[in-house]
Amino acid sequence: MQLVCLDLEGVLVPEIWIEFAERTGIPELRRTTRDEPDYDKLMSYRLGILRQHKLGLLDIQKVISDMGPMAGAKDFLDDLREQFQVIILSDTFYEFAMPMMRQLGMPTLFCHKLEADAQGFLVNYHLRMPNQKKEAVQRFKEINFKVIAAGDSYNDTAMLSEAHAGILFHPPENVIREFPQFPVTMNYAELRNEIDKASARI
Ligand SMILES: [Mg+2]
Repeated sequence: MQLVCLDLEGVLVPEIWIEFAERTGIPELRRTTRDEPDYDKLMSYRLGILRQHKLGLLDIQKVISDMGPMAGAKDFLDDLREQFQVIILSDTFYEFAMPMMRQLGMPTLFCHKLEADAQGFLVNYHLRMPNQKKEAVQRFKEINFKVIAAGDSYNDTAMLSEAHAGILFHPPENVIREFPQFPVTMNYAELRNEIDKASARI
């Protein structure tokens, strides 16, 4: 049995924080782990900014819902799910991803959770566990799945290495250079082609 594990942001939907910063005109929200490597500090900073701008969960979800998935993502995923079991492994939060999951036909998503207060302001976040992408792939292997994984960024490379086959999708130049062992795909047709090749091989 073969399983395909896909990253979410940068593969099926836009980078949520960056796109959110654009749409709301709050440039401070463009800050990423590249600017602030301490994830806890970064998240506290982001939640503080949201509160400062009086953006509660419903406002945030409205903006995210308008973003929508990337062009062609739904068709790619629908076709893929006819051939494979597909699980999306993401470091985003359910509360953010759900509006777009609906637009993708509600595929299975493993990610993290946010906590809102009674007024709907986000007050905390809860990571289900550290390194969940890699850990999940390891567990799927233990229950006898052959795993093909695809992602676009650094936070996917451990998952790609752990899988029987790893594929990069539209990655930045430095990731291509540092991880030459993974085939690089730039659009859904190429990604599907690499998944099918891997499927025949593993
Ligand atoms: Mg990504």
